[in-house]
Amino acid sequence: MAFNKKIAQDEARRCPQCAEATCLAGCPLGIDIPGFIRLLREGDTAGALDRIKEQNPFASICGRICPAPCERACIFYADGQPIPIRELECYAADNGSSKLKTASVPQKEKVAVIGTGPGGMSAAYYLAFQNFQVTVFEALHGPGGTLRYAIPDFRLSQKVLDEQFDLLNSLKVEIKTDKVFGPSLRVDEIFMKGYKALLLATGASVPVMRDIRGIGFSGVYYDHEFLCRLQSIGKDGVVAQARRQKMPGLKTVVIGRGPAAFDTARMSARLGSQVSIIIDGFEEETGVSDDMRKEAQQEGVKILSLRLMGIVGNDNGFVRGVECQNMEIIEGQGGLKLEVSKEAPFILEADTVIIANGHKPNNLLRHYLPQLKHDDKGLLWTDGKTGMTSMERVFACGSLINPDSSVAQAIASGKMAAKKIIQYLDHEKN
Ligand SMILES: Cc1cc2nc3c(=O)[nH]c(=O)nc-3n(C[C@H](O)[C@H](O)[C@H](O)COP(=O)(O)OP(=O)(O)OC[C@H]3O[C@@H](n4cnc5c(N)ncnc54)[C@H](O)[C@@H]3O)c2cc1C
Ligand code: SF4
Repeated sequence: MAFNKKIAQDEARRCPQCAEATCLAGCPLGIDIPGFIRLLREGDTAGALDRIKEQNPFASICGRICPAPCERACIFYADGQPIPIRELECYAADNGSSKLKTASVPQKEKVAVIGTGPGGMSAAYYLAFQNFQVTVFEALHGPGGTLRYAIPDFRLSQKVLDEQFDLLNSLKVEIKTDKVFGPSLRVDEIFMKGYKALLLATGASVPVMRDIRGIGFSGVYYDHEFLCRLQSIGKDGVVAQARRQKMPGLKTVVIGRGPAAFDTARMSARLGSQVSIIIDGFEEETGVSDDMRKEAQQEGVKILSLRLMGIVGNDNGFVRGVECQNMEIIEGQGGLKLEVSKEAPFILEADTVIIANGHKPNNLLRHYLPQLKHDDKGLLWTDGKTGMTSMERVFACGSLINPDSSVAQAIASGKMAAKKIIQYLDHEKN
């Protein structure tokens, strides 16, 4: 529920304005949290928004979907009553009108960015704000990356997302969609067109596969594919299209953790399916904020602590359930822990199974830029000092180099990449 003025001010007044504010260490973007809350308390919502925007141009996004590590670092978190920093950020974004100056006509060097997710958007913003001429190339029809194509509308509306692109348009950032870097846009072409630096912000949207018995049955999906298929057909079409495709069926089991697992679960529940998320851990170990977990449970999603043994299907090759074993709570030396029970395995019925096992970057870069160095985990390597990849003038940011990053981390990474590019171009000029 969005805060009204009274709730926002009451909550802002609860903030003790700690001399050494622990919440600061939790925010990947370095937002002056006590500072913006103080301004809210004084009734200066515009000032609060400007204070946030000094570090985060996309407050409306983070105010809605950031997992808010800052709140876990708040001194009141242990009592279960942290200051609701994320909601206050959202309130400032929705109700404040920024007075920050906009940039003048871009006249500095041309920079190309690949990918319009939060990482690319953030870099484009900071570069354009310093008057660089920025073009962002995007493979898909619409900009926004995972925020547009995977995260459901009920958590982040297309309207809010579109407003972020209005901001980029106002800074004269040029966005070219339907341009796939690699097959339809080569690196040499970019440099021949006069771009002085190239930033790769192509994200990590390929599911990390899991070796589960029975994974080939019809009715088994990976989270990203499932969400993209429903999201890409637009808000109004989702229900009708989903019904036609029988996605999801009547009973859905989601295997995995994190926001993607919860988004698939909630989306399925909203489409009328009975949904269970199974994890071999405690409910609190599902890798999402308490709010996100509770919202899913309120919508009927069950969270079951079970050990998965495999997926089972019928003779026609369709899923009919997952084979599981119960888990028991054991009191050990380090406190409570879960162990697989000695009871016989059982089948949890399902006609749809969705696997949420994390994501990794796609292979296009390896194919089209084989000279790029990767680290021992297989991730694109960047120089910690310069932010550059092993190719001169080519930089990288976001979940491409840190696949587990949150939106705030991707925005922070884009901001850092923009800074490194500016340093590089300044150095080249002198
Ligand atoms: C279902 C789901 C739910 C999530 N929920 C949350 C959440 O609640 N809170 C949170 O903080 N984080 C969440 N995340 C994580 C968050 O979405 C990512 O951290 C973030 O999107 C990463 O941003 P990015 O810019 O690096 O990549 P992306 O958002 O993936 O954007 C990459 C862009 O590059 C484009 N691209 C790829 N290859 C090419 C190419 N060759 N040429 C041109 N363009 C290309 C893609 O089309 C895409 O637009 C969630 C992720 C998923 C999948
Ligand atoms: S961006 Fe996230 S971590 Fe930073 S202040 Fe906002 S909610 Fe907290």
